[in-house]
Amino acid sequence: MDCKCLPGCPFFNDKMANMPAMANIMKKKYCQGNFESCARYMIFSVKGKPAVPSDLFPNEVEKAKKILGKK
Ligand code: SF4
Repeated sequence: MDCKCLPGCPFFNDKMANMPAMANIMKKKYCQGNFESCARYMIFSVKGKPAVPSDLFPNEVEKAKKILGKK
């Protein structure tokens, strides 16, 4: 399933600095698949779009949990 953030997401639309070499694989895995596991989506779903750090990548779940106050 596609993530509902997909049209405006800087990761999906290659708008982030230092895009990882695996970006396309990550897009398939998260953006067009298991988006609920995406670190960006986790923050978006709880705190809204403005709270998502501009440099956060989908696989940085540990960072997302810290931001959300979970360990
Ligand atoms: S899964 Fe994450 S990176 Fe992909 S479009 Fe959604 S919020 Fe953006």
